[in-house]
Amino acid sequence: MSTAVVVGAGPNGLAAAITLASRGVEVTVLEAADRIGGGIRSSESIMPGLVFDHCAAIHVMPAGSKFINDLGLDRYGLQWKWTEIDCVHPLDDGSAGALYRSVETTAAGLGADGSRWEMLFGGPSRRFDKLSDDIMGPLLRVPKHPFGLARFGAPTVLPAAVTARAFRTPQARALFGGVAAHTFQPLHRPLTSAIGLGIITAGHANGWPVAAGGSQSITDALEALLTELGGKIETGVRVTSASQLPPADITIFDLSPTAIAGILGDRLPTRVSRAFRRFRYGPGAFKVDFAVDGGVPWSNEAAYRAGTVHLGGDFAELAGTERDIHAGRMPQRPFVLAFQQYLADPERSVGNIHPVSAYAHVPNGYTGDATEAIVAQIERFAPGFRERVVGQAVRSTTEMSVYNANYVGGDINTGAKDIRQLVFGPRTTLSPYAIGVSGMYICSAATPPGPGAHGMCGANAAAQALAELGR
Ligand SMILES: Cc1cc2nc3c(=O)[nH]c(=O)nc-3n(C[C@H](O)[C@H](O)[C@H](O)COP(=O)(O)OP(=O)(O)OC[C@H]3O[C@@H](n4cnc5c(N)ncnc54)[C@H](O)[C@@H]3O)c2cc1C
Repeated sequence: MSTAVVVGAGPNGLAAAITLASRGVEVTVLEAADRIGGGIRSSESIMPGLVFDHCAAIHVMPAGSKFINDLGLDRYGLQWKWTEIDCVHPLDDGSAGALYRSVETTAAGLGADGSRWEMLFGGPSRRFDKLSDDIMGPLLRVPKHPFGLARFGAPTVLPAAVTARAFRTPQARALFGGVAAHTFQPLHRPLTSAIGLGIITAGHANGWPVAAGGSQSITDALEALLTELGGKIETGVRVTSASQLPPADITIFDLSPTAIAGILGDRLPTRVSRAFRRFRYGPGAFKVDFAVDGGVPWSNEAAYRAGTVHLGGDFAELAGTERDIHAGRMPQRPFVLAFQQYLADPERSVGNIHPVSAYAHVPNGYTGDATEAIVAQIERFAPGFRERVVGQAVRSTTEMSVYNANYVGGDINTGAKDIRQLVFGPRTTLSPYAIGVSGMYICSAATPPGPGAHGMCGANAAAQALAELGR
């Protein structure tokens, strides 16, 4: 029987392990933390019964992922839930851009920009099932649906700042800009439209769901399936050197490229080692979980019904703060993303106390305390928020990388998503999962298709490993 070791039990590591185990490979997963799941864990950190997602909260890509859907995780309790509105981006005058699952409803709320929104997202979202086959694999390969991808793909090369100019209203510009800013890149850079267009299109196809009971339930379902397939998981095992790796036909690392370079040392070919050591990390995230009595008192009515609220002012302000954090400057009013999963999943609340999470985009390795900046940014769009907070838990950028070594300097995307790293992954190659050592692969979010709890980096790496093993 063939054997495999997977190092790291994030969604990609678990997806790789399941892909291998389902083909009869004997798999062992080694995880540094005492709980598996990486970026998809939840807990009741502030008070019993009040459920917070530690990292990933909104699952736009997994909900529509053929790979995840084919696993039948509903058999192990996974259930998606949707808020009425996916995302709201309020502005200082009390107005907002609101993103609904329906393209038509979104367009109807965007006034003069409605028809443009429909033109940009209507067709691609209807074809999303076919497009996702191409989007969720390595970006540089022969696409299965070249014409569909080309129609969707052309505007993706543009800077988000240029795409935003296609809209006339500040609401539509800000709504698009807030989603594009998920790249953590300066919005005037080429290709920064790609993430915004991709997430909005996927959202129009599948919505922005949360996992019932917390994102942890995705991990629990993946673990149950892997165990059923005979896979073994060992927690509390931090791999720091090659001598800790059990012999195996296949070894897959769900780790940052830098960590792999440290573990394998001289075993990596020089060109790979150099690329992995020079891998670039993006800005960080500073996160605060709040227990809020009665929920957030938003000025904008739509924000009461949205799972995600983007707090960054208009497009120009947003572009400025993203440029600042990239240059290592902490803005006075950073871009803050606030999450209200309990609106779709009321079981996460305790009576009238609701779990609300928020994180700010900050410079990589930021050592200051962004808590007050986050509170002030929420207060700006929800006066009276501060008085409603009855408990809070903070995770700084430093704590983020202690919590999960893949988040170097608080970079929750495991690597800057600039053009080269977004298209190729950690090094310039058409084989982004190979690391130049026979039988060894990388599958973390540093590789295409990138961050998210979709598991596709893991599934793609495992498929390549199986093919090269002749299975
Ligand atoms: C605050 C925050 C908010 C986010 N929000 C969203 C969101 O709403 N939607 C979304 O789709 N994505 C979101 N993400 C991103 C998402 O969580 C990640 O892209 C995803 O978890 C990446 O999966 P992965 O398997 O590549 O790595 P990870 O989930 O990072 O898992 C890596 C695993 O490897 C383990 N590990 C590290 N080093 C070692 C070692 N040396 N030995 C053994 N084990 C090791 C870690 O402990 C961890 O368990 C968010 C992330 C954060 C932090």
